Amino acid sequence: MVRRVLGPQLAGKSICAVRLITPGVIAHPRSEEFVEGVVGRRVAGMERRGKFLQILLDDGGRVVVHFRMTGCLLRFTAADLADVMEKHTHVIFELDDGSVLCYSDQRRFGRLWLVEDVETATSGVDAANADTDTGAVHVADVETAVDKKGSRVEKSGSGLSREMSAAGLRVTGMDKLGLEPFDTGMTWKYLRDKLGGRRICIKEGLLDQGVVAGIGNIYSDEILFASRIYPGREARTLTVAQWKRLAAQIPVTMEYYIEKNEISPEDYLKGRGKDYRNTPYLRVYGQKEKPCPNCQTRLEGTRIGGRSSVYCPKCQKM
Ligand SMILES: [Zn+2]
Repeated sequence: MVRRVLGPQLAGKSICAVRLITPGVIAHPRSEEFVEGVVGRRVAGMERRGKFLQILLDDGGRVVVHFRMTGCLLRFTAADLADVMEKHTHVIFELDDGSVLCYSDQRRFGRLWLVEDVETATSGVDAANADTDTGAVHVADVETAVDKKGSRVEKSGSGLSREMSAAGLRVTGMDKLGLEPFDTGMTWKYLRDKLGGRRICIKEGLLDQGVVAGIGNIYSDEILFASRIYPGREARTLTVAQWKRLAAQIPVTMEYYIEKNEISPEDYLKGRGKDYRNTPYLRVYGQKEKPCPNCQTRLEGTRIGGRSSVYCPKCQKM
């Protein structure tokens, strides 16, 4: 949602100055280097990977943001800033159109990184031409890291794709992310290979960002309901039919809620980046004791792996 709203608003804008109110939210590099490194660069666009938001810079670097629990990015006009600035604002990016992008985070668990990219030819033959000026870049490492995860390589107009440097992937922890929900490699066999031997509940398996990136507590409940699998079911006991339903439902459910989450920039700002539009469409999450949308049985709530979970005892048999 952040990317869809802010991406078009920020593209083409340059960062003129950075006010760092809480240096501790900068995870990498040192906070002074972060500020120096960001100032003067232009935003090319935004990308999401798992729960990481990435602000792409047009010369091949990126600011990576992980919001954790309460972090958010909001854009205001500079004139409005004094009136509307959140109490927990930690970083203010001043842009060349007179607007400001504020990173605020009440609980301060979120982090920001500045990392450099490497450009790789999508054909793979032009690797030698990749930008190695950043010093920390090893093209072979990056390509291996990407291939291993089977991630899609997005093509840009020039035929070059931008991948984060191996050092950047490591420093942000993004090297440990699993497949995206929409990745063609995210098949039932992939899920079974990753989770089928583990003694964890299937819900915990879905929340493991190293298997599928970007599934949170809400969507894991919705995916399991749609797949008719009890969230507390031990992963290693799932049948082939259940793995197949699960693999099929992950992209379907995620796409459905991304669509329901569409929001106007005005409403995004009003809701302080937290006004999720999909709440009325959730079928089980937050619906404890209400009737199951399929069979009218009363939905039950429980805790699984420390997370609140809601399920239908009839549709999702233990
Ligand atoms: Zn039911």
